[in-house]
Amino acid sequence: MSSVWTQLEPHLAGVEKPARYIGLELGAQRPVPGQGAVSWLLTYPDTYEIGLPNQGLQILYEILNERDDAVAERSYAPWGDLEAIMRRERIPLFSVDTHRPGRQFDVLAFNLSAELTYTNLLNCVDLAGVPVRAAERRPEHPLVAAGGHCTYNPEPLADFLDFVVLGDGEEVVAEITRVVGGWKAAGRTEGSRQAVLRELSHVEGVYVPSLYDVEYEPGGGRIRAITPRFADVPERVEKRTIADLAQWPYPKRQLVPLTEVVHDRLNVEVFRGCTRGCRFCQAGMITRPVRERPADQVRTMVADGLRRTGYDEVALTSLSTADFSGIERVVQGIVDDPASCGQVSVSLPSLRVDAFTVGIATQIQKARRTGLTFAPEAGTWRMRQIINKLIREEDLYGAVESAFSSGWRRVKLYFLTGLPSETDDDTLGILELARNCVEIGRSHTKGPSVKASVGGFVPKPFTPFQWFGQNTVDELGRKISLLRDAGRRAKGVQLTWHDPKASLVEGLASRGDRRLGPVIEQVWRQGGTFQEWSEHFRLDLWLSAMADHGLDVDWYVHRHRTEDEVLPWDHISAGLHKDFLWQDWQDALAEVGLPDCRWTPCYDCGACTGYGIEHVVASATPPAGGSQGTGQDLSTGHLPGAVPVALRPRPLAGARA
Ligand code: SF4
Repeated sequence: MSSVWTQLEPHLAGVEKPARYIGLELGAQRPVPGQGAVSWLLTYPDTYEIGLPNQGLQILYEILNERDDAVAERSYAPWGDLEAIMRRERIPLFSVDTHRPGRQFDVLAFNLSAELTYTNLLNCVDLAGVPVRAAERRPEHPLVAAGGHCTYNPEPLADFLDFVVLGDGEEVVAEITRVVGGWKAAGRTEGSRQAVLRELSHVEGVYVPSLYDVEYEPGGGRIRAITPRFADVPERVEKRTIADLAQWPYPKRQLVPLTEVVHDRLNVEVFRGCTRGCRFCQAGMITRPVRERPADQVRTMVADGLRRTGYDEVALTSLSTADFSGIERVVQGIVDDPASCGQVSVSLPSLRVDAFTVGIATQIQKARRTGLTFAPEAGTWRMRQIINKLIREEDLYGAVESAFSSGWRRVKLYFLTGLPSETDDDTLGILELARNCVEIGRSHTKGPSVKASVGGFVPKPFTPFQWFGQNTVDELGRKISLLRDAGRRAKGVQLTWHDPKASLVEGLASRGDRRLGPVIEQVWRQGGTFQEWSEHFRLDLWLSAMADHGLDVDWYVHRHRTEDEVLPWDHISAGLHKDFLWQDWQDALAEVGLPDCRWTPCYDCGACTGYGIEHVVASATPPAGGSQGTGQDLSTGHLPGAVPVALRPRPLAGARA
């Protein structure tokens, strides 16, 4: 085992933020691989500040290092200044834990959370001294793998990845370790790389792109079929789902960085999955069913984590934290804990406005007011029915009232534009909502401010909107201009928006097929890394690479798909039946909402029924103020009765939706 530290260290004083590369965080490990142990380099293909807090990566880091047959270290994409030095001085990609060269690991495993990091993945593989194309790798090279939400359509990266892990990683990493360990023990002989990949394809949740053929319709264009090349390779690869989050109380030793990172606080995951059914939301669709962590375990993880890390802020994370059964009691328990001396603040990212109550507001502001963000996503009820974000204006105004009356002065709202069948009235409704929220604030505080952040909608695989043609850059730009013009007259509303050009490339990568591989490679070879970063984003590189490979951006991004089309990810399964998604798409176009199946009968989307698992929720009733599953008339948005505002205390128990 070697280290690049002596080569690297003299250069660190000359680069921006050298702490990105030294490791040594509280909670960091310096594992010594035992004889035959499989070594994983868990890599986040963006900067250290973005990648370090990633919970998925930290969970696997701990789980693998607890095993006798595996070790895991971490790596992050080096920023351009260090990359130039690394290339000049021939310093390979390294782990931040022991500074061991990336090429010495058995598996280079990437966490892919954003499509615009794809070129960084290639860059990291290349910096490790490993051929970027899977077909050119030899037995001595590590296996290059990826997991994370983007891998539900892994096809644009099919040329570069040896294997892909779909779904929850906690259990499957052990099975992969056993297979790779066998490969190592047998000496990684000539030709054995194909054999180990074939064996990995038998592990549930593992997809090996090179074992599938893709056939296109005559003259190119649509896919005709995607078929395994061997009889023992599955036709469809199912995602992995852990049934019981309580068995996985990770991370137990969250990393505490030496330098500033995003989300620099204790993070405790309170549940996984979401069945609210927002039709634009890939994360919600692919992580079904809902699995709550027992409230007692949340409290223990928070108390242990605060004591160990010294943080004075904890975020209770999930896709919609206010939906967690008994959230008020959990928050109250944290802020009232004598050990925290009234100094601990709680943030609840991903708050559903219809589940935010005065009670929650009062609890989380006890120690200190952290930012408050709500995501109504669309400006009109019509539009919110289409996207199935069934939040009434009263829900939003009630939540905002709770916030301002509890002492907040700033509220942030997230919206999308470019949604299916969106009209200018729908777009302008965004501003109307924001303006009304400012008005509510004025009755409680001087100078309230509402920040409305608007993103261009990008349709994602495994959502009902996967068939929708994304708005063009010009159309998104026009809608943003509409809002900007109207916003000039809206005092107290601060409008920000996402670059529509970046949304175009995100759309290209998220629904692209294997033919995009050479495009991604060309953009990377021409220097297009860190495409997530606006100052580095280069639309020109993407457009010229598409043209050079005879591919039509319009066809990939702006075209509506038909029901009969074979989608590039049809051989992957997130559990959801394709006909359920299609019906939900038709319901969207008919402006028909769909309730949350946690509290209504199952409508057989496939996420539970196909795997023999169930939702694990502690409350048999929806959370306070909920519009879904509460008897609301979904066609009008009006509730027959008063909106409940307090959670009922209930004992924890697994309950079926
Ligand atoms: S299978 Fe039924 S209960 Fe499970 S997530 Fe789908 S609709 Fe909900």
